[in-house]
Amino acid sequence: MQASENTNDDFLFIDDSDEHEILDEINGDAWKVLIVDDDPEIHSVTKLALSDLIVLGSRLEYLHAYSGEEACRIVEQNPDLVLVLLDVVMETDDAGLNVVKHIREVLARQDIRIVLRTGQPGYAPEESVIKDYDINDYKTKTELTRRKLVTTVYAAIRSYQQINIVSQNRVGLEKIILASAELLEFHSVQDYVQGVLAQIQTLSHCQKGLFCARGHGIVLNADDLSYYILGQYGGSSVLVNQKLDTLKSEQASTIVNNCFHEKEHYFADDCAALYISSGGFRATIYLEFDEPIPELDKKLIEVFLSNISIGYENVHLFQKLSNAAYKDLLTGLPNRLQFLSLLDDFCQSDNTDMVAALLDVNHFSDINDGLGQEVGNQLLIAIASRLKDMPGECIVARVGADVFGIIGPDRYVNPEHLLALFQQPFDAGEQHLPANACFGFCKQEHAGSRGVKLLSQINIALNLAKKDRSLSYGYYMQEMEDKTLWRLGMIRQLRTDFAANRLELWYQPQLMLETGKVIGAEALLRWRTNDGSFISPAVFIPLAEYSGLIIEIGDWVVHEACKQIKHLENEGFDDVGISVNVSIPQFRQENFVETVISATQKHHIEASKLELEITENVLMDDPQIIIDALEKLKAQGISIALDDFGTGFSSLSYLQKLPLDRLKVDRAFVTDIAKPGLSLIADTIINLGKQMNLTVIAEGIEEKAQEQHLKSQGCHEVQGFYYAKPMPTDEFLAYLSKHN
Ligand code: C2E
Ligand code: MG
Ligand code: MG
Repeated sequence: MQASENTNDDFLFIDDSDEHEILDEINGDAWKVLIVDDDPEIHSVTKLALSDLIVLGSRLEYLHAYSGEEACRIVEQNPDLVLVLLDVVMETDDAGLNVVKHIREVLARQDIRIVLRTGQPGYAPEESVIKDYDINDYKTKTELTRRKLVTTVYAAIRSYQQINIVSQNRVGLEKIILASAELLEFHSVQDYVQGVLAQIQTLSHCQKGLFCARGHGIVLNADDLSYYILGQYGGSSVLVNQKLDTLKSEQASTIVNNCFHEKEHYFADDCAALYISSGGFRATIYLEFDEPIPELDKKLIEVFLSNISIGYENVHLFQKLSNAAYKDLLTGLPNRLQFLSLLDDFCQSDNTDMVAALLDVNHFSDINDGLGQEVGNQLLIAIASRLKDMPGECIVARVGADVFGIIGPDRYVNPEHLLALFQQPFDAGEQHLPANACFGFCKQEHAGSRGVKLLSQINIALNLAKKDRSLSYGYYMQEMEDKTLWRLGMIRQLRTDFAANRLELWYQPQLMLETGKVIGAEALLRWRTNDGSFISPAVFIPLAEYSGLIIEIGDWVVHEACKQIKHLENEGFDDVGISVNVSIPQFRQENFVETVISATQKHHIEASKLELEITENVLMDDPQIIIDALEKLKAQGISIALDDFGTGFSSLSYLQKLPLDRLKVDRAFVTDIAKPGLSLIADTIINLGKQMNLTVIAEGIEEKAQEQHLKSQGCHEVQGFYYAKPMPTDEFLAYLSKHN
């Protein structure tokens, strides 16, 4: 277009505007406007006409192009260009329209506003161009008075701003949808909270962020309502799971607290508090900024929060469910189920340095019963927390009521290290309770292929440790399992055979040493197997004790013995008594005393003809309870003998309190009694018995020489193969007939 053709340019100088009509206050960056015209004068008059114009708080900044080609280049270089005032006819008739196409089609800039201007009405673009290329306005330069130009520019910039908001909103909303979808993946509160903070950071560009909630019901083991930090973005020290107060920021504490009470978002220039609430789960996100966040971002954050609040509730519910399934509520440790899956990992790993262990607190039920469940719980919590202090690589779980599981490197998970944890007493409420424990270990190389298998392996080691009084721990070995399997098989067989009435009671005569008169017999169990051989009671009695079967068997023995006493009486032997052996589990039975008494009554026998043989070891349990039980039995006339005396660990002071009638010198002290210098213990026991006014009987006499020595010591009674082996009922009757 030639300058001479611009006949109507003068119109641009006509001042028809109302000066202050659309002037605003300045507050933002300038709007970039590109003037495209091949006539330099148009540039200057346009600038002049629009000078001092402020649109929506910002001035205009002008860029100039004098050809279509130059215009295209400038548009490309200025991504923040807002408006192009574009001459249609320049180097060619459609140079302006080519610029339009370039902007919309090549550069895909749909946001830039375009106002077409032409000096010649005949060059007006077709209507379709105006529509297809989103042209804001088409004006002949004759139409463009200053006022009209200002109005056109104002409208175009407004339109740009709206388009821009919409498109920013769209980008923001896309971000939110993406972020919300991503957050759905998180199933732990901690991951979720960190995820939310990361998203908020991209939405708000905050420098610091804290995700806070009240402790109780949200933070494990927190029972107060203080604000805790669940997650953190930025900041130098790690504050997660600590109280908000530890931050020592009055601003943060006040704003978080207010936000909780006001139940709404709070925005200031340098910080904000965002309120999250869903289904009773409430939280506040505290943010700090360098610059105020734009309104639009606030809106987006609000939309984001309303979108994710429900997720906050869900993730809590999910965690609660998974806690219920995998966590022990009392101690907060992984529970048995979780421990099993950790053991699965242990079995799969090829780290042979690792050890898995079980720890069983000794006599925990006594503490529970004696001091109350609350103290018991406190003790468990205290033990758990001491175990938690083990080095980081160790995992601790609560596997049963008083059983803990531990997995870790051999250098930590070993007897020495674990026993040391029990050296100091534990704080349980008001009390300082000493406690000790038994341990079962299994090294990685011996572990089975699954957690369940491994757990049973460690259990085998633990159970053996529990029975072993000298050592409170054991390492799993294959032999242990073989032995355990054998034991289980034996127990099963014993149960079946006992039910089938295949146990027998044999009798071993006891004689008066001076006269040789048979004064009674010891009843001894015999278990005959299918092939006619016998399994020794020394083998099966411990199994019966272990399995609890001894209670039924022992009951049967007492009844059999009473029946036998009656039978002997009927046969004319009314001064022959019978002693039966009694095991510890029988004493633990609440009604043991009553069952024995009722057996004597049922069979109408004189109670004094029944004797109970106890070993010193029964006193290991609770001496007073045993003494009380024996007193009651004694009061009924039942006789009490102390078997295997000298082989146990009891203290003489307790022995003195036992209501005894007889003392049995164990075979171990009798064996070498006739050898010079080896009779000292037997002699002492005999002497002691006599001092205590007890009848003394020696067992296991096999030779004449032994008998002679016993005689010389004044031992009262004897029992042993030298006189007779244990024998079935009929044989015993025959033996009696022969000897008495
Ligand atoms: P115990 O009560 O010390 O029984 C004495 C054991 O010594 C018996 O072994 C008896 O056969 C054996 N014996 C007796 N005289 C001699 C001898 O001169 N030489 C040798 N070498 N042995 C002799 P048995 O019958 O094998 O019983 C072993 C243990 O089994 C018993 O020791 C007792 O502790 C337990 N037992 C047996 N029957 C019962 C029962 O009915 N109930 C309970 N709880 N335990 C029982
Ligand atoms: Mg005995
Ligand atoms: Mg004995």
